Amino acid sequence: MGYTQGANQKSQVSGLGWQVELHVHLDGSIKPETILYYGRKRGVPLPADTVEELKNIIGMDKPLNLPGFLAKFNYYMPAIAGCREAIKRIAYEFVEMKAKEGVVYVEVRYSPHLLANYKVEPMPWNQPKGDITPDEVVYLVNQGLQEGERDFGVKVRSILCCMRHQPSWSPEVAELCKKYQHQTVVGIDLAGDETIEGSSLFSGHVKAYEEAVKNGIHRTVHAGEAGTAERVKEAVDNLKTERVGHGYHTVEDEALYKRLLENNMHFEVCPWSSYLTGSWKPDTEHAVVRFKRDQANYSLNTDDPLIFKSTLDTDYQMTKQKMGFTEEEFKRLNINAAKSSFLPEDEKRELLALLYKAYGMPPVASGGMLLSVLLGHRPAWLV
Ligand SMILES: [Zn+2]
Repeated sequence: MGYTQGANQKSQVSGLGWQVELHVHLDGSIKPETILYYGRKRGVPLPADTVEELKNIIGMDKPLNLPGFLAKFNYYMPAIAGCREAIKRIAYEFVEMKAKEGVVYVEVRYSPHLLANYKVEPMPWNQPKGDITPDEVVYLVNQGLQEGERDFGVKVRSILCCMRHQPSWSPEVAELCKKYQHQTVVGIDLAGDETIEGSSLFSGHVKAYEEAVKNGIHRTVHAGEAGTAERVKEAVDNLKTERVGHGYHTVEDEALYKRLLENNMHFEVCPWSSYLTGSWKPDTEHAVVRFKRDQANYSLNTDDPLIFKSTLDTDYQMTKQKMGFTEEEFKRLNINAAKSSFLPEDEKRELLALLYKAYGMPPVASGGMLLSVLLGHRPAWLV
């Protein structure tokens, strides 16, 4: 499934058109038109009546702190949460959006609890009680993503988020990861406000991550974005994370940074997001510049394109124009993103083989492809 259309939409800035995105939130990637449609249809009040007005209220142009950014969701989530049709539709439209951006493989994340209105305590967004459980939310999103894969030719997998302020939800998140492990779900995440004191060590989160380790569920954690390098250390040592969401402040602890470099830790970098959330101060060197200099393992991602009024090109453009990133580096980081994806090994090899071919990289450089051929898994394009 997948890999047919996204590559046709060649990105004008990065010049690649075969991009891998690992850090993007479904609830931060909704079309304003869809929010307005469901607000009207369901009688949910919204702060604006037109797409432009809504974009201006939800969207950001200037830096804001992380809690200020998180407050943006209050404006529009009540229009989508607790509606079967809306939940499935945002998942489907997400895939369409990524196809237009030239993405070939994407891992999209969300909190099932924040879209539910039944068997969720406390009730999110002050919704009236309904009958959509977090479990059904995952089922609906999976349906939307799979139909999107079929129609738009982008390969999509999903990551379920625990929320820092609601550790009581986390054990169920781990259970849902297990239940839907072979229906798009490939990993678990911890999102929300990482400045909540001690939140990496709340027992609900720790138990959920232990369960994930036990069951072969891949793990990522938002850490070192607004928080310090200590949050990154906790994510690695206590939650056994395999990737770090953002991780910019890791570089403030040289010993930790060196250790993660040696372990080939993957950093999910979101450049434009880091500017608008204030997690990167523009008068300092961006951590991604250091990552590039050190040839670290990282990717470029949009995070919440609805709120940041962006596409993946915005992030490529920012690093290209302001930080001197080259096409060679874009290729390298996308190869690293594919290698650090949460796909099973055989699917990872297939994705890598496609990227090496698309980037015009010699087969000799692609151990993945050679291995794939040796093992008899001939990618379709070799025929
Ligand atoms: Zn994020």
